[in-house]
Amino acid sequence: MDSFKECKVCILNSSVPEFRLDSSGTCNYCEDHKKLNSIYKIEEEKILVEKFKKLREKNSNKYDCLVGISGGVDSCYTLHFVKKILNLNPLVIHYDDGWNTEIASKNIKNMISKLGVDYITYVNDWNDMQKLYKSFFLAKVPDPGVPGDLGIFGAIFKTCNQENIKNVFFGQSFRTEGTQPREWSFIDGSYVKSIYKKYGDNSKLENYPNINFIEIAYNIYFKRIKTIPILNYINYSKENAKKFLINEYKFEDYGGYHFENSLSKFINKYYNKNFLNFDRDIISLSAKIREGKLSKNEAKQILNNEKPLDQNFVNYCLMKLRINEIELQSIINSKPKNYKNFFTSYNIISKFKFILKLLVKMRLFNPILYNKYVK
Ligand SMILES: [Zn+2]
Repeated sequence: MDSFKECKVCILNSSVPEFRLDSSGTCNYCEDHKKLNSIYKIEEEKILVEKFKKLREKNSNKYDCLVGISGGVDSCYTLHFVKKILNLNPLVIHYDDGWNTEIASKNIKNMISKLGVDYITYVNDWNDMQKLYKSFFLAKVPDPGVPGDLGIFGAIFKTCNQENIKNVFFGQSFRTEGTQPREWSFIDGSYVKSIYKKYGDNSKLENYPNINFIEIAYNIYFKRIKTIPILNYINYSKENAKKFLINEYKFEDYGGYHFENSLSKFINKYYNKNFLNFDRDIISLSAKIREGKLSKNEAKQILNNEKPLDQNFVNYCLMKLRINEIELQSIINSKPKNYKNFFTSYNIISKFKFILKLLVKMRLFNPILYNKYVK
């Protein structure tokens, strides 16, 4: 067995999937971060305003773009930026998987009413979501949040096609979040289908907007629907954005990465940590080290000083997922799995590698996704 190795720059180590060190002792995630820094150059606001003006001017549609919102800092700030700084008229969409916290819903409501923008919620049938999520837990894969993450994509593309919208802004920032390893977050419709088939009850899903890789590629290439991670182009600090949103929009803090959704909290801080022995915060903390926002020691202290989740909250989540004591025991005793154990789009993605590389060059395919799913 290989001995334990850690990157000399960040706190990623050989326990993280796909981790490699070069001869200087720097990891591939740090290298990717550097490359993304050169692709996503930070621009002055007035240059961005000029660049995105055409979305308004060339558009006969009611809406200039779509903005996805979760109620967390990143997406709320993205909405503010699109409406107030870029001066675009967005349609705002929220995907409701049944796990929103009250705080997140309140944050969305405050933003929408103050900005006076049109807003829709894509509400997924709760029974479907419960069955989908539960099947992922029973499969004991590291990424049981995938049905929700993919549902967001599905709902976004569906709405773009219905409303004839070609540009989607979303609040992703590799500088604050980093990129999750493929094995920890394989967002793919075929993966969802395979797991549900094996670990679900096989009943038909009513309105789950499943979308596979081919359909996503079709939307990007033929329908020319573009996703724009706008935070990557600005000097974005989550802490400052949070302060700004609190003052400007009565934003409320929910504490922790993606904790606007209770299921994310349960997955990251209970399931992943206790059953699979990892903490995905190591990825975002490492990104912050690369950006000079944290030292290695500070990041390690944050990871080590975390308190375990309140048992009442854990019980509430297990009850909501309808996972009983016997099922919980069988999850604990079963062997961990991941996307490689199931039929997914990975083979087809690998086959069409060269096309995807071309699409990245044509600026049609997101380089962050290329790094994650193709490389
Ligand atoms: Zn590194």
